[in-house]
Parts: sequence; C-alpha cells; structure tokens
Amino acid sequence: MVLVYAEATNGQFKKAAHEVITYGKKTADILGTECHALVLGDTPGAEALGKYGAGKVYRVSGASLAAFDAAVYTAAIADAAKQLGATVIILSHNSTGKNITGRLAARLEAGSVPGANTVPEMRDGYFTVRKPVFSGKAFADVQLLTDVKIISVAGNSIPVKESGAEASVETLEISLPEPRTKVVKHQVATGRVPLPEAELVVSGGRGLKGPENWGVIEDLAEALGATTACSRPVADSDWRPHHEHVGQTGVAIRPNLYIAAGISGAIQHLAGVNNSKTIVVINSDADAPFFKAADYGVVGDLFEVLPRLTEAVKKYRGQ
Ligand SMILES: Cc1cc2nc3c(=O)[nH]c(=O)nc-3n(C[C@H](O)[C@H](O)[C@H](O)COP(=O)(O)OP(=O)(O)OC[C@H]3O[C@@H](n4cnc5c(N)ncnc54)[C@H](O)[C@@H]3O)c2cc1C
Repeated sequence: MVLVYAEATNGQFKKAAHEVITYGKKTADILGTECHALVLGDTPGAEALGKYGAGKVYRVSGASLAAFDAAVYTAAIADAAKQLGATVIILSHNSTGKNITGRLAARLEAGSVPGANTVPEMRDGYFTVRKPVFSGKAFADVQLLTDVKIISVAGNSIPVKESGAEASVETLEISLPEPRTKVVKHQVATGRVPLPEAELVVSGGRGLKGPENWGVIEDLAEALGATTACSRPVADSDWRPHHEHVGQTGVAIRPNLYIAAGISGAIQHLAGVNNSKTIVVINSDADAPFFKAADYGVVGDLFEVLPRLTEAVKKYRGQ
C-alpha cells in the first residue's frame, strides 16, 4: 500500500498536498496497489483528498501535533505506516519533508529518495525513482531495494489530477511523544505564494542598481500575480530579504514562468532556477550567460522593458 502524508498549510489542504496524492496514486497504479492519505491534526476537508486519488484518509489527532515538531511528526508517520502495512511512503519535498524524510528512513530502515521529480517506474524488476543531482545538471535513477520505500516529491513536479470521489476518513490511534521543541513566534514572510510553490516568479539582480528601484519588479509581479525573487548579492547587500534569494545556496524553484531582470546568469544562480518551465531573461548585455538558458530573451534596459511589460500585462488582463 502507498501511504501519502498530506500536509495542511494554514488550516487548509493546498496544491502541494493534492500534488503529492496525485503522485501517490500514479505510484500505486504502477504497483497494482492502493493509495491512502495520512493527515496529522484536525484540518477540515480531509474527505476531499479522495478526489486526487486517496482511496481512504487516515487521521491522527493529538495535542502534540499542534505545531510542527520533527520527532513527533516522524513518530506519527512511522507508526501509522507500520500499523497500516505501508510499503511506499510519499511526502512533499518542502521544509517538512526535508526535515523528516531522513528521520523516517532511519526509523523504518527504509531506502529513501529525497527530491524526486518523476513518478517511479518498475525497471528490470526494480523500483526506480529519478531525481535531479549536481544542482539539476544531471539525473540519478535510484533503485530502492528495501521493503519500505520513502520518496519526497519536489514541488511542481507533476500536474495535479482529480481522479476520484471524496474518501472516507478513519481515525488511527497512535500514542504520540511529547514535543521537544516549542514554536514561540510564527511570522509569515510574505503575503504572496511562497517561492517553492510559486508558478510565476519575477526576479531581480544587481542590474537593478539598488533597493529603491525594486518597484519595477514589484509592479510586474503584482500585475501577473507572481512571487518576487532575487539573486544572492542582492540579498547579501540587504536590498531584499534572504528568503527571496534563489540559487545553489538559496531556494531552488521550478515555476512555470521565471522572469529574470538584471541577473547575469551565473552557474550558482542557474542551479536554483534552471528547472523552471519557461525562462525569460531581460539584460542589457547581449553576451550575458543567462541568455543561453533562456526560452525568451530581451536585450535592453530593464528600466524601460519592465514598465512596458507591466503595462502590456495589465492591458491583456483588462486592468
Ligand atoms: C559558493 C557560491 C554560491 C553562490 N550561490 C548563489 C546563489 O544561490 N544565487 C545567486 O544568485 N548567486 C549565487 N552566487 C553568486 C554568483 O556567482 C553571482 O555572483 C551572482 O549570481 C551574480 O548576481 P547578479 O546576476 O545579480 O549580479 P551581476 O553578476 O553583477 O549581474 C548583473 C547583470 O545585470 C545586467 N544589467 C545591468 N544593468 C542593467 C540594466 N539597466 N538593464 C538590464 N540589465 C542590466 C548586467 O549586464 C549583468 O548581467 C554564489 C557564488 C558562490 C561562490
């Protein structure tokens, strides 16, 4: 059985949860088995996870789950998997997934693939999962040889698909440990879609010349409904907050559209953005390396190009 941990964000099941269940359903179909979802906590609307392919939803409740604690969440998922006899466990490769995939693998003596971006295949009789390596410059096909297998799935890897009806929700009795950490403050970094989940991203580099010029990036992002990002030197110079920095040492993203203005396209920057489906580069230097990775390029002054692009988007959207 495939067990998918469906994580709720701000009291709701969002795209990342639907995506990982879609992935779990496809995996279950390949293995000729069932896909079930696991929910930790009392988030309403869990029945609707059935629409994305969960045959059943199992819920674990308890005061220890009120805030994220890696040890508690690992114990809950591991014990649920044991109780249900799950052989494949799937979760999102978000901050929770990155935090607990290794812990789960150790606890369940399972082989794991963190950050997979394609659905597993049975190849030559082996359960094989593909994941990007070397900052996205190559792929590794990993055979999981253990009885229990764990996969964390990179965001935006597969389109969400509705394939079924609402599912029944059953409660699992699990004795949870006490949390060893306590969240004392929760501060939302931005009102926009967080970068790892964003489908549209507008990003600026040192070509913006200073933080006072960021309005041209913000205006285009606003018109498109996009999230803003930046290159590392921009964050290092405190022009923008560090959570916006994308690249090898920042956030790795895979949006449908990445618009980069005034960014040269250094290899360390590309490492975090080259999985974007469409890349648009605006740079005044026709020899900027970023153009080699671009689907569309504009050689020009960003201070002229961006406002015109924003106006065109507004006109197109009838704003
Ligand atoms: C170990 C290591 C890790 C790193 N990790 C990261 C990382 O995660 N992310 C990251 O981004 N960088 C990272 N870097 C830094 C990286 O090597 C580059 O230095 C950085 O990406 C350059 O940022 P930039 O493109 O904004 O600036 P620049 O390289 O200075 O490029 C500015 C660009 O703006 C263009 N420009 C200037 N004026 C205009 C204008 N008016 N209109 C249009 N275009 C204009 C220029 O032609 C130029 O191409 C890392 C470096 C190291 C050594």
